[in-house]
Amino acid sequence: MKVRVRFAPSPTGGLHLGGVRTVLYNYLFARAHGGDFILRIEDTDQSRYVAGAEQYILDCLEWCGLTPDESPVIGGPHAPYRQSERKAIYHKYAAQLVEQGNAYYAFDTPEELERMRQDHRKDEHTPAQYDHNTRTKMRNSLSMPEADVKALLDAGTPHVIRIKMPENVNIHLTDMICGEMTFDSGLSDDKVLLKADGMPTYHLAVVVDDYLMGITHAFRGQEWLPSVPVHVMLWEYLGWGKHMPHWAHLPLILKPDGNGKLSKRDGDRLGFPVFAMNWTDPKTNEVTTGFKEIGFIPQAFVNMLAMLGWNDGTGQELFSMDELISHFSVERVHKGGAKFDYEKAKWFNHQYIQKTDTAALLDMALPFVEKELGHTCDKEQLEKVIPLIKDRCTLLTDFWAQGHFFFRTPELVEKAAITDKWNEQKQQFFTTWSTALASLTEWTEQSLEASFNEHVAQQGIKKGEVMLPFRIMLVGGKYGPGVFAIAALIGKEETIKRVGAITG
Ligand code: GLU
Repeated sequence: MKVRVRFAPSPTGGLHLGGVRTVLYNYLFARAHGGDFILRIEDTDQSRYVAGAEQYILDCLEWCGLTPDESPVIGGPHAPYRQSERKAIYHKYAAQLVEQGNAYYAFDTPEELERMRQDHRKDEHTPAQYDHNTRTKMRNSLSMPEADVKALLDAGTPHVIRIKMPENVNIHLTDMICGEMTFDSGLSDDKVLLKADGMPTYHLAVVVDDYLMGITHAFRGQEWLPSVPVHVMLWEYLGWGKHMPHWAHLPLILKPDGNGKLSKRDGDRLGFPVFAMNWTDPKTNEVTTGFKEIGFIPQAFVNMLAMLGWNDGTGQELFSMDELISHFSVERVHKGGAKFDYEKAKWFNHQYIQKTDTAALLDMALPFVEKELGHTCDKEQLEKVIPLIKDRCTLLTDFWAQGHFFFRTPELVEKAAITDKWNEQKQQFFTTWSTALASLTEWTEQSLEASFNEHVAQQGIKKGEVMLPFRIMLVGGKYGPGVFAIAALIGKEETIKRVGAITG
C-alpha cells in the first residue's frame, strides 16, 4: 500500500512553528517511504476563516521547501482539496449516519443549549455537555416523536446533525508515538457533524476526507487527542474501520521554561518569532514577525524544527533535508513536549551561514542589505564583504549590522573612545599617513598594512595606540573584521574621508 500523508490546516491565521513541524514530520515520513504528501485546506468553519491565510500557508511551505504532491493549487486525483468545495460529499455521509442510527438531528436553539449548560453546572457529577446524560432532555430526533421531527425538517427548521456517542465503549488506539491508548466513549460529547449552515464540522470532514483521499498515516499535534474517540467512532460507523490511518500525535512545543504550550504571545513577550513568516492580520493590519523576515535560512529553520521532538540517537544535530529523510523515524519522536530554545534556534542558523557558500549567501543576504540601504546594493561589493563577516553573522539581518560600513559612511557611535585619548602625536600620525595614502599606488590589504606599519615605525608611536582609533574611524564602533581589509574594500577616497572626519 502506498503511504499517503496529509497536512490539513485551517486557514485561520499565521502558521505557528508547531504547524510547520507537523508538516515536516508528515513530509519526511512520506519521502522516506516513497509516499505522497497532500495539503488539504480545512476551511469549513466560516466564522474562523481569514482571507489570505491559505495563500500564506502555501507561501510558508514553499519557503521551507516542503512542497506537497497534491494540493488546492497543484490539484490531484482527489480534488477538490479545499473542504468548502466538498460540501455535497459530507452531506451524503451525514445522511448515512442518521439513517443507520449513529447520528441524529438536533433542533436546540443557542438559548436552549445555554440553559442545558447552566442546569448542569449545578450538578457536579456530569459534565455540562450534550451527551448520553443530557440528550434525552433536549430537542432532537432521539427524544421527539418521528412525526414532529419530520414536520420540523419539512418546515426547514434550523438544525444540526450530531454523532450519537455510545455510553460504555472502550475505544482503543495504537498511536505511533503515544503507544496504546484507551478512551471511554461516554466521556465524549455528541459532537456536531453537520452545522445549521450546511457545512460539516472538522470532525466529519476530517474522517471523510482522510478515507476518500486514501490517507494511510496522519501526524498531528497532541492537542487533537481529545477528538480521537469521536473520530474512531466515525471510522467505525461509516464502515471504514480497517482503513483508518495510523495516527501519530506529536508532542507539543513548549514555552522556553517548559510551562505550557508555546504561543504567539510568548514570542511577543520574550522577543522571538513563533510564526514561520510575517503574518499581517487583515482586520487590524498588525504584523507579526516570522522566522523568514527575522533572518533565518529556511534549511536552518527546518533542521531546527526537526530536532524539536526528535533525534537520531547519535548526537548529530545538523542534517540536510536528504539526511533528515533517511534518518527520520517515528519511533524516535519523543513522547513529551519539546521546549523551544531561541538561542539554540539561532545556533542552527549560525551554523548554516558558516557552511553556505558565498554565492548562495549573496542571494540570501541581498534583500536584507537592500532593505536597510533603501536602494540596490553593489553585488560585487557584497560578494567580497560576505566572507569577511560571515563568522560574525547569526541571522541574515546581521550582514547589514556587521557590514553596513562597507556600503555607507558610518555614524561615529564610539567617537568618544577616540577623542577622549586624542593627542598631538596621534593627530600627527593620521594626518601624515592619510597624505601618504593619497599617493599609495597599490590599494590592497597587504599594502595598506605595510604602509601603516612603516608610518608607525617612522613616527615612533605604538601601533596599539592608533589601531583602535583607525577602526572606529572606519566602522563607527569597536567591531568588524580586520581594519586593512575594510580599508581595502571601501577604497582610497572613502578611507581618506573617514580618517579626515576625525583629523580635520
Ligand atoms: N484542521 C485541523 C487543524 O487545523 C487538522 C487536524 C488534523 O490534522 O486532523 O489543525
